[in-house]
Amino acid sequence: MAKLWENIKKAKLFKSFRSLKTRIFCIIMVAGIIPCVMLHFGTLERYLDNTVSVRTTEVQTQVKIIADHLITYNYLLDNSNEVVNAELAQLSNLYDGRVLIIDSNMKIIKDTYGISEGKTIISEDIVKCFKGEGASNHLEEKGYIEIVVPIEEKLEDKARIVGVMLTSVSTDSIMSGYEYIQGRLFLLEILALVVVFGIDYFISRKMFKPFEKITDAINEVKNGFTDEQINVTDYIETEHIGDAFNQMMLRMKVLDDSRQEFVANVSHELKTPLASMKVLADSLLTQEDVPVEMYREFMTDIAEEIDRENKIITDLLSLVKMTRTSPDMNVELIDINSLLELLLKRLGPLAIRADVKLIFESCRPVSAEVDEVKLTLALSNLVENAIKYNNKGGWVKVVLDADYQCFTVTVSDSGIGIPQESIEHIYERFYRVDKSHSREIGGTGLGLAITRNAVLMHRGSITVNSEEGKGTTFTVKIPLTYISQ
Ligand code: ADP
Repeated sequence: MAKLWENIKKAKLFKSFRSLKTRIFCIIMVAGIIPCVMLHFGTLERYLDNTVSVRTTEVQTQVKIIADHLITYNYLLDNSNEVVNAELAQLSNLYDGRVLIIDSNMKIIKDTYGISEGKTIISEDIVKCFKGEGASNHLEEKGYIEIVVPIEEKLEDKARIVGVMLTSVSTDSIMSGYEYIQGRLFLLEILALVVVFGIDYFISRKMFKPFEKITDAINEVKNGFTDEQINVTDYIETEHIGDAFNQMMLRMKVLDDSRQEFVANVSHELKTPLASMKVLADSLLTQEDVPVEMYREFMTDIAEEIDRENKIITDLLSLVKMTRTSPDMNVELIDINSLLELLLKRLGPLAIRADVKLIFESCRPVSAEVDEVKLTLALSNLVENAIKYNNKGGWVKVVLDADYQCFTVTVSDSGIGIPQESIEHIYERFYRVDKSHSREIGGTGLGLAITRNAVLMHRGSITVNSEEGKGTTFTVKIPLTYISQ
């Protein structure tokens, strides 16, 4: 069954019916055909009913006049009256019909065809007619109208039914008129359908032109022939599609630019330590009888450059893993107090070397659903920066607090601060306020980018407050319960 449905879906006809253009074409066609069909049957049926009813009334009137004459000329007792016979002959000739005159004994006393005279006839209509109920029936399949009229004898104030006139008139002339009109109507309908088809074809083509225009424009942009904006204003819908596409292209351009910039930065950052190593190695190679002390000094510098290269690569790998879209989150319920204590213990030696005092203040015990590795990396970067960009004898204070929804880690320092104009750039990859100073103290310019991405992956937020020469405060706010999407 499923296979059959698949085959139907693959079929060419089904495919073309999936096109909006084909569907609109079909809808207009059906909308044109329905009135034609209604007009066809409505008009013809009414025509037939109407003509049959006019013919019936006409014949009934004639028959009633003759029925009166039958009484006047006492025809039921003697059917040789010339006047009546002439009238009957005229009636049957005029309407191409047959008249039977039946007396009270149900005996046929006159048949204009002359074949049933003397025979007895009994039918429901005739019996009813003797009770005073005249009738008329259109027998369509037999091709005639049957009319039964009572022959009434009027006696002073009473009337008595003494016989019945059964008249059958042919509907051949009515049917030939009907067939003629039917033929004409059919021709008109075919003509109307051809016109509807033509208009339909024209409209559906014209209506879809803007959509074809927009598809062509998108294809041109896609194939790289042009990077112009798409602007098809024929319909609001095409305008919306164009706007959405332009916005998407703009976003892609921004992404592409930032990717290119990132690649350029990465190459530059990776080349710098290599260039230093090359200079150091070359100067050792080009000199003869280099003293051992110089070898040692240069090799130490080379080892430092290797460490630096290593750090850049490690940071880059961390950054790649910390993309917001990456689903790679290893969430567990973690004691944040212990996490921070461990982190500060690890960074203790760095603080001692920099002569900076590390203070930890916890307002309450906090447990939260976090990725321990990513959060540790994010907070380490903040504390490390607070130590690195500090002054001798300065301090770094880490405060942990929480409400019923989120926990907050505040990292403040008494360091050099960040200039106001640099604040909006500090989360950019490879951005450093003071390149040489940052390089001197081992910065790669990737730390805050990593931190920000890690915080966003936890659906948290990071804010900064800084005053040059006084110090900086970073505040990280993260939900206690991890929100997966
Ligand atoms: P880096 O590896 O150079 O430290 P980051 O991305 O961690 O790179 O930081 C970007 C820049 O922001 C740093 O180069 C530094 O100039 C500035 N910065 C970051 N944290 C602080 C801070 N606590 N005090 C002063 N400046 C800071």
